[in-house]
Amino acid sequence: MDITTVSHYRRARTRDDLALAPGEVILAGGTWLMSEPQPGTTGFVDVTTMGWPDIEIAAGGLRIGATCTIATLVAWSRGAHEIPVPEAWDAVAMIPDAANALLASFKIWNTATVGGNVCQSFAAGALISLAVALDGVARVWQPDGGERVLPVAELITGNAENALLPGEVLRSVELPAHALESRVLLRKIALAELGRSGAVVTGRVDGDAAAVFTVTAATLRPVVLRFASLPDAASLAAAVGDAPGFYTDSLGAADWRRGVSIELAERIRTELAA
Ligand SMILES: Cc1cc2nc3c(=O)[nH]c(=O)nc-3n(C[C@H](O)[C@H](O)[C@H](O)COP(=O)(O)OP(=O)(O)OC[C@H]3O[C@@H](n4cnc5c(N)ncnc54)[C@H](O)[C@@H]3O)c2cc1C
Repeated sequence: MDITTVSHYRRARTRDDLALAPGEVILAGGTWLMSEPQPGTTGFVDVTTMGWPDIEIAAGGLRIGATCTIATLVAWSRGAHEIPVPEAWDAVAMIPDAANALLASFKIWNTATVGGNVCQSFAAGALISLAVALDGVARVWQPDGGERVLPVAELITGNAENALLPGEVLRSVELPAHALESRVLLRKIALAELGRSGAVVTGRVDGDAAAVFTVTAATLRPVVLRFASLPDAASLAAAVGDAPGFYTDSLGAADWRRGVSIELAERIRTELAA
């Protein structure tokens, strides 16, 4: 779509270039920014020219550059990238499942970025589901030159709402090794076969037997439920059912979202227990 209010466009190459003038916004893949009118936006600052590596592996885990496209992340997870996937990181197999939860064409996958998906902060943000499932943290660059790190689950504060302050830029999403080494499963449901997710539930068991279940898409913001070990069916159903924020929109009623989240969590629990 033509964004008729925009009169200028800048490519950011240094951190100083990320300082936004009034009316400017950060542009990543542009798949959402270009999909509807942006009243009040007069300039785009392209963050994809910052030269951030897509994938970096360190002892602590995986760092995904905010400008990494969803397609590149999926390709890496499937071994089609110059940086190999560490053998112990079984959870990487979930990345294509998470990306598939994004209702998007191949064209969108190749353009949309991980950072754009997180910063757009839709309840049905597929990369949010991935990050939250694996204890992902967001590294945020602050306009005064500092940075802060917070869990992605806390960065997202509502459907299309987040805790980014004016001028802050998401630099990376980082997934810790202990979560990448876990057994993890993701299940999703949508009212229409190819519709946007109505509920995305994940469950994982870590090396120390601790279990973590998450609910996204069904709730206004991510829900993370932690257990010392895999819970029994009743405890899990109660925890999921009591989670805050189940909501109603054209993609599903709150009661339906609650009900299917309980069911998906139980299916995951059964598989993890097997
Ligand atoms: C057909 C179609 C289907 C879609 N399906 C889904 C879906 O199922 N789920 C979903 O969540 N979204 C969906 N989207 C919306 C959008 O495409 C995705 O959220 C996408 O991942 C956004 O990434 P992007 O890089 O294109 O972001 P952009 O459109 O470039 O930016 C999105 C927002 O994030 C901000 N931003 C981007 N990068 C940064 C950064 N590094 N730091 C700070 N702010 C930043 C921008 O200023 C903007 O406000 C869909 C869009 C289309 C057109």
